[in-house]
Amino acid sequence: MKRNKFDVLSLGFILFLVNQLIVSALAATLLFSVRSASQAQTVWNNKQCAVVLTYDDAIDIDLDNVVPALDSVKLRGTFYLIGSSPVVAKRLAEWRRAAQRGHELGNHALMHPCDGSLPGRGFVTPDNDLSKYTITRAISEIRTNNVLLNAIDGKNARTFAYPCGDLQIGGVKFYDQLQNDFVAARGVTGGLQQVSQIDLTNINSYMINGQTGTQLIDLVKKAQQSGTLLVFLFHGVGGGHGFNVDLKAHRQLLRYLKAHEQSIWVAPMVEVAEKVKLAQQSGSIKSTIK
Ligand SMILES: [Zn+2]
Repeated sequence: MKRNKFDVLSLGFILFLVNQLIVSALAATLLFSVRSASQAQTVWNNKQCAVVLTYDDAIDIDLDNVVPALDSVKLRGTFYLIGSSPVVAKRLAEWRRAAQRGHELGNHALMHPCDGSLPGRGFVTPDNDLSKYTITRAISEIRTNNVLLNAIDGKNARTFAYPCGDLQIGGVKFYDQLQNDFVAARGVTGGLQQVSQIDLTNINSYMINGQTGTQLIDLVKKAQQSGTLLVFLFHGVGGGHGFNVDLKAHRQLLRYLKAHEQSIWVAPMVEVAEKVKLAQQSGSIKSTIK
């Protein structure tokens, strides 16, 4: 009887301790998630998430359809220019005006070389085959494109986008030698990323081809829910490229972003990457990248 009473008492005490432990663990978890959420929000300009609109390859449609659409709702994007594109040469003044209105002119290399040794790369010409490049040539062409872009927009800080998403020449990552030339580089791997998960040498992006407006908006909603960075990678918008999204879908996306301006930070890649870089360097957000 006595012994049973003791057992009941100790059992009660153990239960009390377990309960306290669970409560403290829950509190710590909650505090941690609130803290990481608020840290992420600080990086995202005190908003829920960040969205970056990027447009590749310097095509006419950028100036004909995209820049006017963005300007009409006062949103800014990043245009990754191929220096040798005739659309850069012919419409230089229009690119300059776009930059003056706050759009980023990003670097998409001088000649857009892609690795022709990979499967499905029949379109790669011998002249623009990255697998035949030396590292030095790749680097000097990309730096030359920076000089050209600087002559257009007068800026020194910008981001790079890997042509065809190719990171390597003969197994060597050529961007390693370009890290001081850029704030960051955008890749082509799809995915939403927390501040701590972002690899500034190869930022994830979603390649858009044929999605509806609802599908584009759903991606934004996912970024809002998860407090992450969402990067759109567009080519054609209302035509102009084999990869395309129709004008209506693109307009629906812009309208949604505009309507939710208070909770979504939409900015050019260079501005978002600068904030991520600062947060990762200051240690306020611990990077999880190995
Ligand atoms: Zn490209």
